[in-house]
Amino acid sequence: MLVSAKEMLNKAKAGKYAVGQFNINNLEWTKAILLTAQEQNSPVILGVSEGAGKYMCGFKTVADMVKAMIDELGITVPVALHLDHGSYEGAKKCIEAGFSSIMFDGSHYPIEENIAKTRELVGVCEELGLSIEAEVGAIGGEEDGVIGGGEVADPGECKMIADLGVTMLAAGIGNIHGKYPANWAGLRFDTLDAIQQLTGTMPLVLHGGTGIPADMIKKAISLGVSKINVNTECQLAFAAATREYIEAGKDLEGKGFDPRKLLAPGVEAIKATVKEKMELFGSVNKA
Ligand SMILES: [Zn+2]
Repeated sequence: MLVSAKEMLNKAKAGKYAVGQFNINNLEWTKAILLTAQEQNSPVILGVSEGAGKYMCGFKTVADMVKAMIDELGITVPVALHLDHGSYEGAKKCIEAGFSSIMFDGSHYPIEENIAKTRELVGVCEELGLSIEAEVGAIGGEEDGVIGGGEVADPGECKMIADLGVTMLAAGIGNIHGKYPANWAGLRFDTLDAIQQLTGTMPLVLHGGTGIPADMIKKAISLGVSKINVNTECQLAFAAATREYIEAGKDLEGKGFDPRKLLAPGVEAIKATVKEKMELFGSVNKA
């Protein structure tokens, strides 16, 4: 069922595990993630970037597809449909379209403006029973054309944003979107610890989950991370499986060109990736 992310994340924070946010790009992606969540009896968050929303013909198309799919597939585990790195305008559009959760990424604004805009959206979400994620300290790498410098968040600023009543907080701790460079310095656990000390029970969000070693993921969860975003890893798995199918010439055998056959290995690869992440994050059987 479609729910806000509030309850699942508060439970995760208290239970010391994390719920995965997996970004969707189309019907196959959505179906693969929903079915895996149901099979693993895990709560799940479907992430939609503004670019992916545009690609899928708008946020209303996405919201209606997800709701219908939950219904038709008989998905009973908690599912949140979440705007990823939303602009102020994008957040309002998603609220209107029927999303159950939004992220307002005001990390590129001066802190005063980030606070003012986040405060307004918190009010709207509270009234409608939606969850809202805010961000402090830009996350490194590129996401839909937005380049972040990989800042390390100021714990005091995190506390100011957390106190506005947001549901969960993303803080830059040296994490990066996309593939990590070979000379990456790793996560800043000292900063994460300081943020958790100040924000208490607030679920913290780790973006750029692709390529962070398992031991660092586990340590981050032990320091209060309750939501981990995975995007690139599903894309890489899908592309590799599709490449293998075509390079083996399977699209040229019989009806192997049928999109339902051609896309099937990629779908299975996404399912395997999602399952592996749910096991690592500890969300299996936590629905
Ligand atoms: Zn992100």
